[in-house]
Amino acid sequence: MGIAKQAATKRAAAASTRKRRAVRLYAPAEVEAIFARLAAADPEPKTELEYSNPFTLLVAVVLSAQATDAGVNKATRGLFALADTPAAMVALGEERVTELIRTIGLFRNKAKNVVALSRQLVEKHGGEVPHDRAALEALPGVGRKTANVVLNVAFGEPTIAVDTHIFRIGNRLGLAPGRTPDEVEARLMEIVPPAYLQHAHHWLILHGRYTCVARGPKCGNCRIADLCKSPEKKLPTAA
Ligand code: SF4
Repeated sequence: MGIAKQAATKRAAAASTRKRRAVRLYAPAEVEAIFARLAAADPEPKTELEYSNPFTLLVAVVLSAQATDAGVNKATRGLFALADTPAAMVALGEERVTELIRTIGLFRNKAKNVVALSRQLVEKHGGEVPHDRAALEALPGVGRKTANVVLNVAFGEPTIAVDTHIFRIGNRLGLAPGRTPDEVEARLMEIVPPAYLQHAHHWLILHGRYTCVARGPKCGNCRIADLCKSPEKKLPTAA
């Protein structure tokens, strides 16, 4: 790339950063206050998926796409009783895995991926789940969101996995607006204070699952209602 083109690219990137900063709706102290409130309510949040090691966590997350955690847990109790390591999952085989998870949406494709990723773990990673984003994303059925959950929950990395709840909250509140999950993730990584990054995605998921729900957010019962700047906020009027 020529020098003039490089300079133009740099100017465009700087202008885009300035624009993003200019439209920031929440001051850093307000973001801090939001996460402090969510943290105070649940200091050590945990995933609602049941797992016993990094491998069963990885499988549970792969199975959870377009399925509820409760639905996944119901199926994985039987599955993990028979196979809680990659080698055992390969030995169980695709047909048996398909039968065991048939109550979950997209079960055929997911069974195929679970056995294929298990095989890859055995062949390329000594039967261990790699602590490495690129290696995780190279596994069948594993995308950025799944890799983020595994890196965060199994390895304690400060990653934010943007699911449907976090995507909605980021945009609804104007906290981390974005057209794609990757854009929302990038904005959250910019604005969430470092002290809250480790658990931010759990707090946001739980807030979206139980309070700031998709239809009819429970604003009257929301611990951050006074800080929220969403045009969808509706507080009960005093009688
Ligand atoms: S006040 Fe309403 S819209 Fe705002 S975060 Fe709470 S539940 Fe969501």
